[in-house]
Amino acid sequence: MPIAERMVNMVEGSSMIRKMFEEGARLKAKYGNDKVFDFSLGNPDVPPPPEFKKALAALIEDPSTSHGYMPNQGYPQVRQSVSEFLRREYEAEIPPELIVMTVGAAGALNDSLTALMNPGEEILVPSPYFVGYNQYAFTANAVIRTAETDESFRLDFGALEEQITDKTRVVLINSPNNPTGVVYTADELKRLGDLLEQASRKHGKRIYLISDEPYRKIAYDVDVPSVFQAYPHSLLVTSFSKELSLAGERIGYLAVSPQAEDASLIAAAASVANTMFYVNAPSLFQLAVSRVMGLTVDVSIYRKRRDTLCEGLRSAGYEFVVPEGAFYLFPRTPIEDDAAFCQLLMDELILVVPGRGFGRAGYFRISYAVPDQAISGSMEGFARAMDKAKKG
Ligand code: PLP
Repeated sequence: MPIAERMVNMVEGSSMIRKMFEEGARLKAKYGNDKVFDFSLGNPDVPPPPEFKKALAALIEDPSTSHGYMPNQGYPQVRQSVSEFLRREYEAEIPPELIVMTVGAAGALNDSLTALMNPGEEILVPSPYFVGYNQYAFTANAVIRTAETDESFRLDFGALEEQITDKTRVVLINSPNNPTGVVYTADELKRLGDLLEQASRKHGKRIYLISDEPYRKIAYDVDVPSVFQAYPHSLLVTSFSKELSLAGERIGYLAVSPQAEDASLIAAAASVANTMFYVNAPSLFQLAVSRVMGLTVDVSIYRKRRDTLCEGLRSAGYEFVVPEGAFYLFPRTPIEDDAAFCQLLMDELILVVPGRGFGRAGYFRISYAVPDQAISGSMEGFARAMDKAKKG
């Protein structure tokens, strides 16, 4: 075997995604970009706020801007501004020493899981879940275990309790959720916190909660409650990829609650992991985001798309939970075989992702980080695919 055995499955998994991508590119080349409706990627297309571009331009013009190494954990003044933001946003006092600037939320997840997981220990994830978690678990030599959410994708505490074992080290949640759009309430987080406290005692081992929140600012008429109020042994991982539309610039951070058992050790370990993987988060973008902390893209654009999409799909007979946040919709497929249904949609030049890729077959994910015309232009195709599926 020319490559590591443990990489073989990972390569196969990513080649499936690549195949979908290539099929999309083939269809676009054949029929033209505007005839193919690509809802497969969560790539934000709403422009960053003008203040961000101004901050970036000023930094580039300023001869004193450093482009060199800095403390691997991130610039102290940047971590200070994150700390101040967290005080406002989460009502939590997280000192700069417990914050690590990272290469996106992916970097923050790789760092925190590498810091916490012993080989073979388990990360418990409510399912359906973001497929990237399999990769971050792999990096940390850990195992993903899932607990199904209920019909409306809310946390099922019985299922979570059942899946906690003496190997569980971390419960990893994502709210607003990719792929379902669900936002967990303060009550749900509190119940989860209580469950983790009990389970930690039962198994004689601290279980940590990691809350992955890159979509926090993309929420519609609901609050995204603070995880730090729900459970003291929490870590926040997040990025500016979605809320500032900077996915390609790779900038995010992790923050460890000062109340978490061994908080300083965890931050130190995550910081060392950060150094091993990436050395440090991009210098220019650390400085730029610190000047616009709390600003977001125009979320009303996503809300409008969500409403148009929901209305169109509802009239075509699709069933779904209306998303409260993020920019995904996760409808049921009208036939059991979600991959077959996605093929029917592809015949209509509509690209989406089968639910089985997120751990729940019988559904599919639509990303509405796409131009408005893609939504209006695809509605007839969605309706035709539904008719075909019903006729068998
Ligand atoms: N977590 C979730 C739920 C995501 O959807 C994504 C990206 O789509 C990530 C983490 C990774 O984010 P980033 O691009 O900031 O690394």
